[in-house]
Amino acid sequence: MFSELKPLECEFCHKNLLLDTEHGNYILMRKDEGEDANGFPIISKKYHKLAFACKDHDRQISEKYYHEGYHDEWDDIDDLCNPYIWISKVMAFVNGIQHDQDMTDEAFEQFKGMLLRTYPYICRHLTTKEKERAIHLAMYDLV
Ligand SMILES: [Zn+2]
Repeated sequence: MFSELKPLECEFCHKNLLLDTEHGNYILMRKDEGEDANGFPIISKKYHKLAFACKDHDRQISEKYYHEGYHDEWDDIDDLCNPYIWISKVMAFVNGIQHDQDMTDEAFEQFKGMLLRTYPYICRHLTTKEKERAIHLAMYDLV
């Protein structure tokens, strides 16, 4: 399974966002389901898609999916490769399945693929900088 490191590519320029020299986000998307009686948007509880964007093309990708009727939620791939944050995201993912706040089959498979591709980068001890980042995010309840 891990004999070859597979990339997480920016959907726009195809840069590998797992390289030390590249930085990007993963974007989970919920579907716009119209408006309620008061004109407020109704957004699906399910995640429908997962996409990847480098820091240079996040605006283009956000606009593309906005025009296709999606609301996006962004997270940093560098943070995801912090072992502490990675396992926190896995637990949130598992809890989401348990509480039936799940994903479409497409988003579920994409999320699993992202976890498998980032695993070789997090299967190690935390660096001092990563410990500090994890403590900082935990202080603000962000992981
Ligand atoms: Zn890009």
